Amino acid sequence: MSARILDGKSIAAELRAEIAAAVAAMKAATGRVPGLGVVLVGDNPASRSYVTAKEKACAAAGIHSREINLPAQSSREEILAAVRALNADDAIDGILVQLPLPDSSIEREVIEAIDPAKDVDGFHPTNVGRMVLGLPSFVPCTPNGVVEILRRAGVPLAGASVVVVGRSQIVGRPLSILLSQKGVDATVTLCHTRTKDIARHTREADIVVVAAGRPHTLTAEMVRPGAVVIDVGVNRVPDASKAAGYRLAGDVDFDAVSAKASAITPVPGGVGPMTIAMLLHNTVEAARRRRSAAS
Ligand code: NAP
Repeated sequence: MSARILDGKSIAAELRAEIAAAVAAMKAATGRVPGLGVVLVGDNPASRSYVTAKEKACAAAGIHSREINLPAQSSREEILAAVRALNADDAIDGILVQLPLPDSSIEREVIEAIDPAKDVDGFHPTNVGRMVLGLPSFVPCTPNGVVEILRRAGVPLAGASVVVVGRSQIVGRPLSILLSQKGVDATVTLCHTRTKDIARHTREADIVVVAAGRPHTLTAEMVRPGAVVIDVGVNRVPDASKAAGYRLAGDVDFDAVSAKASAITPVPGGVGPMTIAMLLHNTVEAARRRRSAAS
């Protein structure tokens, strides 16, 4: 069997076209467009390229963006002041603090300084709590992108047995909550480094989602024939044949697993583009909610 490629790039393009239409309609009706504020601290090249990609996507959808770029040695107070400036800026509906911060010990405090009504990454405890309760909230972009790619690809979720490998607060854990919610109705097993015999779980699954941050975490022996495989991982693997000296690889042993699965996401071009599309979606949603709360 050769798996169907779940093309995140084209699904995200479809979604971004819908978002651009919603932005144009909002502009025609209210004279305003949604705004995204981005705080970038330091000059980590990966963070810089993620922020540039997000700002380009905003521009293409007609969303205004404002970036506050701070030096790596900025103090906690300076970073908090940048967040507060975006909280107070009426043209900004959504705020994103690009992680990791050079000083990761202040990340929690910085995230908690974001107005929950503008928390388009969905990391503020208010939004996490509301999501767990099944109340309207901002859902973190990568897990939301995984659910959206499965939906748009027509993969049945109700009653499906899903194994998620990785329990981080930004991917695995929120994804396990989303998938098990009433209305989505999957049965979820969440695996991590202390799970005994991960393969025993993944071999039983209709859908396996891997977000571990390690190449080859999922091999062909670990999936049953016909399973759907979603690879969230983005790893820089040394590769002398590339100008950059590395290539991007996911967490799944793609060639071997795609010969056994019924559908699989590639890396790059799978979950990554969906994450950006969901950020735009959340920004438009934030603008809608803020404007309807103000009227
Ligand atoms: P993270 O915070 O490092 O968490 C990794 C999780 O995977 C942890 O829960 C860890 O378990 C588990 N894990 C690691 N190795 C494992 C193994 N061999 N077997 C079972 N579980 C294992 O990473 P993250 O932020 O969730 O990101 C995961 C990957 O997704 C990374 O490659 C990241 O770059 C990528 N990512 C991609 C996107 C996108 O848009 N495509 C967005 C976000 C992240 P413990 O908890 O026991 O340590």
